[in-house]
Amino acid sequence: MSWLDEFSPRLNELELQHLLRHRRVVEPLGGARMRVDGEPMLAFCSNDYLGLAGDPALVQAVQDGAKRYGVGSGASPMVSGHSSANAALEDELAAFVQLPRALYFYAGFATNVGVIPALVGLGDEIFADRLNHASLIDGSLLSRAHMQRYRHADLEHLAQMLAASEAKRKLIVSDAVFSMDGDVADIPGLLALAEAHDALVLLDDAHGLGVMGPQGRGALAAAGLTGANASRRILYMSTLSKAVGVAGGFVAGDATVVEWVLQKARSYTFATAAPALLAEAIRAALRRIAEGEALREQLHARILQLRRGLDPESHLGLGTMGWHLLPSDTAIQPLVVGENAIALSLMEALRQRGLWVPAIRPPTVPAGTARLRIALSAAHTEAEVASLVGALRELADQQVRAVLQAD
Ligand SMILES: *Cc1c(COP(=O)(O)O)cnc(C)c1O
Repeated sequence: MSWLDEFSPRLNELELQHLLRHRRVVEPLGGARMRVDGEPMLAFCSNDYLGLAGDPALVQAVQDGAKRYGVGSGASPMVSGHSSANAALEDELAAFVQLPRALYFYAGFATNVGVIPALVGLGDEIFADRLNHASLIDGSLLSRAHMQRYRHADLEHLAQMLAASEAKRKLIVSDAVFSMDGDVADIPGLLALAEAHDALVLLDDAHGLGVMGPQGRGALAAAGLTGANASRRILYMSTLSKAVGVAGGFVAGDATVVEWVLQKARSYTFATAAPALLAEAIRAALRRIAEGEALREQLHARILQLRRGLDPESHLGLGTMGWHLLPSDTAIQPLVVGENAIALSLMEALRQRGLWVPAIRPPTVPAGTARLRIALSAAHTEAEVASLVGALRELADQQVRAVLQAD
């Protein structure tokens, strides 16, 4: 039997283990609403935290960009793909995050798998938070540097690892806002350790850019470590596909380090440059974000509303079931419910009410912490968040009654 004959039984096995993934076909209906496999739904699963993906200013920028530049960029940025739009975007990205220089990649994933192997290799060491994003893990593996993972947010554990390391080149890698928990890394703490151990920090701010810091300039600006206080020991990256509402990624920091990445990142050199029309959309998005205090206030009002509504002290059913939101003041609000079966049945019950909230199960999160990952956006109205809170309170009460009847 050929190994090619094994794909089918292996797929069946995934299905039996409930690990087979299905994509939904979606169409936007305005705001946070979308048609999902034909059904209108209210989505709480998009990373479009400011609702910019459908913003008229961005749509206009794409149309103007297409007229001026056409669609594809035609070549690697190292050849003829580096358009004047992409060049202007890099200057504006650096200015926006208040760091000396930026380099624009076609995707956030490609940024991480390009940047890490450009920085370290065989004989070097990477120290990675255990909850880091998959692209950081893959970039680390691709680099062939030795990778150690420290307990989530445990800087004492990280300090021990750094102290024990004899590698000349040490790279600390961390999400700034963790994508499944919504908590924020101790950035000054990471920087202090990098200074003490001659290390470099790569900080992935996919979920902070646009929503955190003054004018949405990101988690590093929120920590006060940009502009005059920027350190060459922090290399910042983020995606342009979440709060920025478009697609792409970038790395920013010390001009010499960024120049080195430009020379060495294979996902930069050997990929066709991102289309200029996207760069134009991102430039429009940066302007909307800088002046977008009202959007961020709207998002924060929804976060507070959800946290008050799902406070276990505020509702008997929620308290009895032990369902609780993790401590997060970001747009990512995970409701931990414990068992996989409960998370899945809640997702299904919400779906029947027209609410789309994804259930996240181990191994993506630790065993026993299955959860609903609620993602909020400035596009959600107060009434929409109230409908989610109401549905979850009702479902908690139903569960309590079911448990009582079973006893
Ligand atoms: C989404 C994400 C990425 C990848 O960015 P894309 O632009 O989607 O390729 C990288 N890091 C983190 C933490 C992310 O959440």
